[in-house]
Amino acid sequence: MESNRKPASSPVFAGRLAAAVLVMAAAGPCRAQTSIQNQPRIGYQAAPDADQNKTLLLKDFNPVSMLHVPVHAVDQAKFYVIDVHNHVNDAARIGEHLPPERVLEVMNKTNVKMIVILTGMWGDRLQAVMDEMVKSYPGRFMVFTQLDWSKVDDPDFGAEMVALLRDSVSRGARGLKFLKDLGLGVRDRAGKLLAGRDYSGFRALLEARNRVFARHPRTTFVSLHMGWPENLDWVSSMLDQYPNVMVEFGAREAELGRQPRRTRELFLKYQDRVMFGTDNEVTEAMYRNHFRWLETADEYFDYWGAPGQGRFKISGLALPDDVLEKLYHKNAEHLFSQFHPSSGSASNKGAP
Ligand SMILES: [Zn+2]
Repeated sequence: MESNRKPASSPVFAGRLAAAVLVMAAAGPCRAQTSIQNQPRIGYQAAPDADQNKTLLLKDFNPVSMLHVPVHAVDQAKFYVIDVHNHVNDAARIGEHLPPERVLEVMNKTNVKMIVILTGMWGDRLQAVMDEMVKSYPGRFMVFTQLDWSKVDDPDFGAEMVALLRDSVSRGARGLKFLKDLGLGVRDRAGKLLAGRDYSGFRALLEARNRVFARHPRTTFVSLHMGWPENLDWVSSMLDQYPNVMVEFGAREAELGRQPRRTRELFLKYQDRVMFGTDNEVTEAMYRNHFRWLETADEYFDYWGAPGQGRFKISGLALPDDVLEKLYHKNAEHLFSQFHPSSGSASNKGAP
């Protein structure tokens, strides 16, 4: 879950906001400025005089809907699922480590056929993931490799990375994952951000990424987290402009589910280029929440991880069966079928 606004990050925001609200409620607008400077950060502790002052921490604000609306639980996906965005038992330790049998149990109970572990790293650490997850459970897991940015200043960085990729492919890796450290964190010896003049804003970063899409038209890119889920017109233009780009919606059920009509329109229009991804801890409840969102027309329910990404509810997309099947697995299968490990050379441009 490298790039999303995970629930883990939101309490900081919620805590700060709550602190500000509490201070103003207690001190009144005129003295608020002084009070903020003099008071220690409140964080998650309820103010001792909260009852007296009728104040409420934002984290405790959880109004219960009075709506009487249909609830359709979906225990198993209607068609088998490939989760193309996960980090469970990965090499980079972005995801949690679960007993592999437990991961399989969740998958079997929910009709998830395969999980793609995106952060497999390289070398021995990649091998460990391959041994634990892929070799032990054929057909159930796929692993992507990554580049070793610590070598970015080596004079033969390019050749070294080509060798790394060949080695990773020979170990069984089936794709290359770029975390958002490229563009935001990785710097060369001179301190310059790689792949960008310097970080100059969100749109500039997206444009820099789009230039990579344009420069490699024979490589298929998967733009994770929908690219920019709060701006689906922009996503639509990106897909129009770059036919070599696909998307997945890992950890963006929240943003998409609160604009269900626009999302549905986009999923129908680009039904061959959207894939199912979760980027969340593997549990039955997590998958079932996503199935309910995609399959039913239920209204006004919690997205997975609520309220970490915002205090709003989502509504179901009620996707038609043929589209559902494409999102659940057909599009991913089509993409992965383009991989030909036997060609295992730098000219293997079909690799996702
Ligand atoms: Zn992720």
